[in-house]
Amino acid sequence: MSDPTQRRSRILSGMRPTGKLHLGNLAGALSNWVKLQDHYESFHFVADWHMLTTDYADTSELQANIREMVTDWLAAGLDPEKATLFVQSGVVQHAELHLILSMITPLGWLERVPTYKEALENIRDRDIHTYGFLGYPVLQTADILVYKADGVPVGEDQVPHVELTREIARRFNSFYGRVFPEPQALLTPTPRLPGTDGRKMSKSYNNAIYLSDAPEVVNQKLATMVTDPARKRRYDPGNPDVCPVFDLHKVFSGPEVIDRVNRECRTAEIGCLDCKRLLADAVNRTLYPIRERRKLYEQEPQRVGEVLEQGTEKARQVAETTMGEVRKAVRLR
Ligand code: SF4
Repeated sequence: MSDPTQRRSRILSGMRPTGKLHLGNLAGALSNWVKLQDHYESFHFVADWHMLTTDYADTSELQANIREMVTDWLAAGLDPEKATLFVQSGVVQHAELHLILSMITPLGWLERVPTYKEALENIRDRDIHTYGFLGYPVLQTADILVYKADGVPVGEDQVPHVELTREIARRFNSFYGRVFPEPQALLTPTPRLPGTDGRKMSKSYNNAIYLSDAPEVVNQKLATMVTDPARKRRYDPGNPDVCPVFDLHKVFSGPEVIDRVNRECRTAEIGCLDCKRLLADAVNRTLYPIRERRKLYEQEPQRVGEVLEQGTEKARQVAETTMGEVRKAVRLR
C-alpha cells in the first residue's frame, strides 16, 4: 500500500517519442517536469507502446526518435540523479497490468473518453479503429498504477484520463482488496503555443522552433512568423491580442518587454521586425543553456543509452514490487 509519509510523493508522466522537441513541448510539459523533480520522486517514461497505438504501420524512425527526445529531456535539465527516466517497453510489467485491468474495464468507460472520440473524428491518415487504440487509456492507467503514483502532471485535456485511472483503481480495489492508491491530477499550466504560421506549434505542421535549433535558425524562423494580419504597414497600429508573436512574448519575454510591446504595438511605435528581434533574443536566452547541455550529450552519445538503461532497471524493480501484490491479490500465483 502506498504510504506517502515514508517517501516523497511520487509523480509519473510520459511522452510519446516524436523525435526532437520544440518550444511547445518545453512550455507544455518539459519545463514543468524540470521544476517538479526537486519536489517529487519523479518517473518519466518514453511512451513507445503508446506510439504504436496510432503509428504502428511505420516504426522505422522509432529508435532515433527516442534518442533525440531523451537528449532534449536531459538538455532541458531533467537530471537522472533526481528523476527516473525510462522506456515503457523496457518494463513489461506495464503490459501485464494493462492486460489484467483490461479485464475489469467496462467498454462504455473507454468509448466515453473525450480524446478517443476526438481522435476518431480527426485522424484520417491512419486507421485507428483498433483494439489497441480503444484501450490506450487502460494502458495509461497501468502506466500510472504500476508505480502507485500519487500525482500525474497533466494539462486540462488529460484530466478525464486521470479520472478514469481513479475509477479503474477503485474497481480493482473493490474486487481484490486495496492495492492501488487513487492518483490525483496535478493540473499544470499548458499555454497553447502558436507556431510560425499561427496554428498550434506542432512537428506535423512544419511550423515549430526546436530546442536544438541554432540561434540563426531561431532568428530566421521568427522573422517570417505571421503577425496581426490587419497591420499591413509599419505605421499601422497593431493589436497584440490577436498576434501569435505576442503570445510567444508572453511565455518567453520578461515583464518589461511584454509591457513595451503591448503598448508600442498599439501606437505603431514599434515595428514588427523589431518586435520579433526582441522575441528572438528572449527565445535564444531560454535555449542557450539547453543547447550547451545538448552539446555535452552529443559528445558522449552513449550516455543517453546509459541513463535510460539505469532508469529502466530502477523502474522495473518498483513495477515488479507492485505486480507481486497484484498477482497475489488476484490470486494468480
Ligand atoms: S509589433 Fe509585435 S505584437 Fe504587434 S503586430 Fe507586430 S509582431 Fe505582433
